[in-house]
Amino acid sequence: CRHLVLVLGDQLDRQSSAFQDFDPALDWVWMCEALEESMLVPVHRARILLFLAAMRQFRAALEDAGWRVHYRSLEVQGDPSLGAGLEAAIALFRPRRLILTEPGEHRVSAALQAVAAAANIPLECRPDHHFLCSRESFSDWASGRKVLRLEHFYRHQRQHHAILMTAGPTGMEPVGGRWNLDAENRKAFGRKGPGLVPRPLGFTPDQGTRDLMRHIERIFPTAPGRLAHFDWPLNADQANAALDDFIRHRLAAFGPWQDAMWSHEPYLYHARLSAALNLKLLDPRQVIAAAVTAFETQQAPLASVEGLVRQILGWREYVRGVYWLEGPAYLESNALDAHQPLPDFYWTGQTDYACLGASIGQVLELGYGHHIQRLMVTGLFALLLGVAPRALQAWYLAMFVDAVEWVEAPNVIGMSQYADHGRLASKPYVATGQYIARMSNYCHQCRYDPKASLGDRACPFTTLYWDFLARHAGRFASHPRTALQWRNLARLDAERLTAIRRGADALRRSLA
Ligand code: FAD
Ligand code: SF4
Repeated sequence: CRHLVLVLGDQLDRQSSAFQDFDPALDWVWMCEALEESMLVPVHRARILLFLAAMRQFRAALEDAGWRVHYRSLEVQGDPSLGAGLEAAIALFRPRRLILTEPGEHRVSAALQAVAAAANIPLECRPDHHFLCSRESFSDWASGRKVLRLEHFYRHQRQHHAILMTAGPTGMEPVGGRWNLDAENRKAFGRKGPGLVPRPLGFTPDQGTRDLMRHIERIFPTAPGRLAHFDWPLNADQANAALDDFIRHRLAAFGPWQDAMWSHEPYLYHARLSAALNLKLLDPRQVIAAAVTAFETQQAPLASVEGLVRQILGWREYVRGVYWLEGPAYLESNALDAHQPLPDFYWTGQTDYACLGASIGQVLELGYGHHIQRLMVTGLFALLLGVAPRALQAWYLAMFVDAVEWVEAPNVIGMSQYADHGRLASKPYVATGQYIARMSNYCHQCRYDPKASLGDRACPFTTLYWDFLARHAGRFASHPRTALQWRNLARLDAERLTAIRRGADALRRSLA
């Protein structure tokens, strides 16, 4: 054939640059259910299912439009790697050129390039227009800056794309006069709880997806996670309906309660759109436009709309920029010299720490946790315990339906573990159990006391927090954004600190 257009599992977008000059009479699409990863490491069943089911629906849509798709499904025997699949397709089609939208992962990019080079066929890698900031624009923005900060990038993005901007006396200004309404987005539910939370729209799996479910259960009998509640959007229509549902029913309350947690309320007012966005079933511009319209038509307050825009136009684009700027070496970062193994309960949810049990149990059940559960429960515990960032990163990549390396790795290595020594975030996010007590109801159901750092009821977060401060005092005591935390450490009685640190060591040994 003329062109073989390679479509990866997270590139399910009809507008993708790879299709720009597609000629159905001359070209073929190639898709491959490469399950090498899932064969090597445990991967949540819902994540495997999401990718495969969405790929199959995308293939069906292309074929309905009269396009020819060579699809290697997981039923095909032999080497399950992407590289081997591509070699076989090249041998079959002898294409003049391979065309691809740039992949979202260093490893995949290198593997495909190696196969193309070995076969001596040109591989044309086109920019990914899904993102609002190209890799080149991000590196232009970053060049010459000593430190990278989300806030600077976010303001630049708002101005550049004229989003939530208005004309003021001195030029364009942020709508509402402030760039960032984060301070209004940290409410907790208090004792009363969230009350009735609107149930998010879910999508009952069709027959094909149910067949695939059974197949996955058979092929991966030991994979973690359950499929009973699987209801993620699997195609562009469903993704649009999920967006509409979020904008109508949850966006207004999204902002204020963004950081709050509550047991048996996995989604609260969150969008549940990350998987659809990352598979490219949904365009981020659409999400931003829908949110801005909701503000303009007074369906949602500015704090919620700005909060969402900051996540999509700011954080999502920023972490991608950092991922490509830093290169594969970023994945090996370990600035805090952390080497503790990941506790087993991350894979089972079996722990009497109520917050961790609830957050991990929910991930096993749904493949989902919201941002604060990821950052301030599972991530924080690993940071305080001193878990090796690579081990933690492998867990996040395996267990969440929305996990793809370009977004997952910077969030884990940079934002959550500070393993990149502040390349991405301005400070380590550390807190005692009292933060979790304030933001959730988990501690009410726990045998530990979030205030206690010593004794039988000592909360592990609180013990490990003081130990973390003591272990890293040399690094952070003079850091402008964390100095206060370390000043409090200096006030702690020396004997008490020694006892706390002994407790932390014992905890570390018991969890190793
Ligand atoms: P909402 O909370 O409703 O936010 C709306 C959207 O904003 C999300 O759909 C997402 O696209 C975007 N967003 C929000 N925060 C971030 C962020 N920090 N980085 C990038 N985009 C953001 N997100 C992933 O998509 N995949 C991951 O593998 C992933 N791993 C993470 C690991 C850790 C340790 C942390 C702290 C965060 C991680 N995030 C990841 C970011 C964020 O937690 C999820 O995007 C969010 O929880 C998805 O749920 P939602 O769609 O309901 O999002
Ligand atoms: Fe988690 Fe500590 Fe609260 Fe228990 S007391 S739920 S371990 S923060």
